[in-house]
Amino acid sequence: MQTEQTTLVLVALDLIGFFHPDVQDVINTLMVSEPFRVLNPQVVIASTHTHHGPDTMGLWGPDDKTRGVDEEYLAAIKNKIADAILGSLSDLKHASVKWTSVHAAGLAKNARNPDIIDDELTLAQFTADDGRPLISIFDFPCHPEVLFENNPHITSDYVGYLRDEVEKQTGVPCIFFAGALGGMMTPDVKDHSFAEAELMGKKLAEVGLKALGAVESGQCEVVSIKRKELAAKLTNPLYKMAFWRNLLPDIRNKKGQIKTEVNLIKIGDLWLATVPGELLPKLGLRVKAQLLEAGAGVAGVVGLANDEVGYILPAEDFKYPWNPFKPGKHYEETNSIGKEIAPKVMDALKELIR
Ligand SMILES: [Zn+2]
Repeated sequence: MQTEQTTLVLVALDLIGFFHPDVQDVINTLMVSEPFRVLNPQVVIASTHTHHGPDTMGLWGPDDKTRGVDEEYLAAIKNKIADAILGSLSDLKHASVKWTSVHAAGLAKNARNPDIIDDELTLAQFTADDGRPLISIFDFPCHPEVLFENNPHITSDYVGYLRDEVEKQTGVPCIFFAGALGGMMTPDVKDHSFAEAELMGKKLAEVGLKALGAVESGQCEVVSIKRKELAAKLTNPLYKMAFWRNLLPDIRNKKGQIKTEVNLIKIGDLWLATVPGELLPKLGLRVKAQLLEAGAGVAGVVGLANDEVGYILPAEDFKYPWNPFKPGKHYEETNSIGKEIAPKVMDALKELIR
């Protein structure tokens, strides 16, 4: 999307995660193209976190000593993202926009802290001058894992059914972002079947479209994005082991930190905070409250945006288990770079919001 001041590109990938250096590769590829350099857009590439796609991170190889990424495939994905971005920049349309949010109760549960639930769908729809929709954006904080760990099929899970339904009813594309789905927002389903994934996706589509139908589109003068980089110490011994085994590229700086970023996107009164991984709902709710307090009409979180650093847990709840292979109630800590990441992310966002 573009105003006189800003061009913003939002990309959603049906992938488990896409690291910061990979996002940078896409941007470097695009920098050789003149239309991209001239428009100089801000780019946010976020993953839906489907658990049933190819390994784009490296942790799920055939055994625990073999990197799971097919490098040729990863390179092809980067080229496709770059092509899609160039295609959209050459096809800009004049649009109005509307945004809203709605609670979609009973579809997701928190398996780590059952008392903390974020069931808010954050929604936006761009419309043409004659009122016809051009594209819809759905954002919901829940792991796409209705099909569970034994599923052998490649699928985008409930997210695919959601988008298909929205696209069927509107006739135009829908993109999906994962909200603060960390530790552990998971589908509240009867069983781990395609039928349940379809039910959940269609229900979310229905609730979201009804909410969008109740609001009017208007001109949107302001589209802005502010970015802030941050660095947090990597302390997780499992990730260190993954570096030694070359499962993951070791991108730590000399201080042993991982560099990443957050963004604050404003599309009119819709304010979206992007976070570089799986923010726990306790923090997601906190961020949204801060956005609303600072003046947002509707607030949302875009998770796994321009990075996937794993779980981002409140420091007060972070307890690394004695045996990470038997983590009990502290599984999320074993898939997190460390205790520092959440305070760093929250501080960086606070600065942007201020
Ligand atoms: Zn996850």
